[in-house]
Amino acid sequence: MKTYRAMVLVSADPQSMERGAQQVYAKLEEEIAAYGLQDEISLSMVNDIGRHDAAPLVIVYPDAVIYGPIAPENVHTLVEEHLYKGRVAAGLQAPLKEMTGRIAWLSARKGTLPAEQRIVLERAGLIDPESIEDYIINDGYQALGKVLAEMTPADVIAELEKSGLRGRGGAGFPTGLKWKFVAKTTAGQKYVICNADESEPGTFKDRLILEGDPHSIIEAMTIAGYAVGASEGYIYIRGEYSLAQERMHRAILKAQEMGFLGNHIFETNFNFKIHIHSGAGAYICGEETALIESIEGKPGVPRARPPFPTTNGLWGKPTLVNNVETLANVPAIIRHGATWYHSFGTPSSPGTKVYTMLGNVNVTGVVEVPMGITLREIITIYAKGLKKGSTFKLAQTGGSSGSVIPASLQDTPMDFDSFGKAGVALGSGALLICDEETCVVDLAKVLVNFFRVESCGKCGPCRIGSQRAFEILTSITEGQGTLKDLDTLLELSSNMAIMSNCGLGQTAGTPMADILKYFRAEVEAHIRLKVCPAGVCTMKPHHHEEKTLEPAGTTAKQ
Ligand code: SF4
Repeated sequence: MKTYRAMVLVSADPQSMERGAQQVYAKLEEEIAAYGLQDEISLSMVNDIGRHDAAPLVIVYPDAVIYGPIAPENVHTLVEEHLYKGRVAAGLQAPLKEMTGRIAWLSARKGTLPAEQRIVLERAGLIDPESIEDYIINDGYQALGKVLAEMTPADVIAELEKSGLRGRGGAGFPTGLKWKFVAKTTAGQKYVICNADESEPGTFKDRLILEGDPHSIIEAMTIAGYAVGASEGYIYIRGEYSLAQERMHRAILKAQEMGFLGNHIFETNFNFKIHIHSGAGAYICGEETALIESIEGKPGVPRARPPFPTTNGLWGKPTLVNNVETLANVPAIIRHGATWYHSFGTPSSPGTKVYTMLGNVNVTGVVEVPMGITLREIITIYAKGLKKGSTFKLAQTGGSSGSVIPASLQDTPMDFDSFGKAGVALGSGALLICDEETCVVDLAKVLVNFFRVESCGKCGPCRIGSQRAFEILTSITEGQGTLKDLDTLLELSSNMAIMSNCGLGQTAGTPMADILKYFRAEVEAHIRLKVCPAGVCTMKPHHHEEKTLEPAGTTAKQ
């Protein structure tokens, strides 16, 4: 393999591409050639993440100097100064403050910022995702080799159980136990599915893994296939993720070519192949049984459970379904061992969690941090605080499995058990951080509307309940609500949770129940005073005004 004096990476995330990363890359190629450095410098586009206003980024290794935002006209100076003369082109460096994601992590290695702890995003942004060689020299396919050479399927599952890895899709189910359920079935044909239908509002962490490190998912799925006794796998990728699909497709071909996928992997008798299935835009297909139906060519409608996919999954066969982030942990656990994995996070929720930070904060983007970090720490350290002049009101943890987290819970460790005890849920990993200018009723209305539109319509509590909840919340935001409506909202939320067929309907009412639990006075102000304290809702002249004002905290039922 060829070695280079320096490596230059250009960020190729969608934001960078929009801001001319391709032109910067072309100019770098031209200037590097003009200085006769093409045999000494490797140049790649990588899926970087971090400050959006610093994109596109150019990172030079081994110095780990980060330049950004770089325009084509900056490239001549950068190449002449750094690559030709060997000194940092100081005026072009990305400002060190307010960095997050990959660039914060790189900077932290130089002692300037608190470090993230990266396991699943370890390589994303550092390697060329189109190069299997890059993956291999960065410990890629080592875990698969170890598994096939030294471990039985039962050993692999035991190691995973010992690691304490829990599903990162939202529910936190123990991954090793799920693998065990599939492994102990005796069917001749079993399947492994990677759920990459990342459709929760505000979540894009899985896309970064798929785009930035596609071979890690192939390696993890192949290990899973060996452990549970499956010879075939599917990656169900959200239809809108075209770059992720292309990169995954090319990575599969490359892995097959080099003997890491297909027949006689590592010259053993183990065979495993992977297909890509593109979603068509339905949010509900992120639910594992709807996803299975969709792969089978049917409408994406959830099945009744039990039976569970572990025994009756794809085409009725035992099927292991894991989320992208969950799988991305597996190769590292096999390489370093369960004890190493427990050195991150909390005893009951070991490892790290990838979050997308959004909303009224100074820095948005993706961070990977140990389980157990608090919301306050994420906001202060990685999001660099709330925007000037605003104060924290709440965070929404993303998607149907998430919760509304009020300020009183911002010091609760973010792990499955601590959040569970506090009565809130981690969700998919999207953190929508809101300041005091966010109206809780408006927020709940927007979230319920999403679930109303995305409900597959199979069962009444979800289909009708989400419609009714949306109508009530809309009338409250217009100053037309009654106190009795609040009882109806709680009743709807509880009925939907108990009677809906799948997770979407079961949790669609969570935001409205949460806002009534933590922000009831603000909701009541919309009804009693016809005022939106956050100044968001536009009140209409009311046509069924309350006859008398009731004292705060009471309801019409009382
Ligand atoms: Fe469909 Fe909603 Fe019922 Fe799930 S809960 S099956 S999304 S109608």
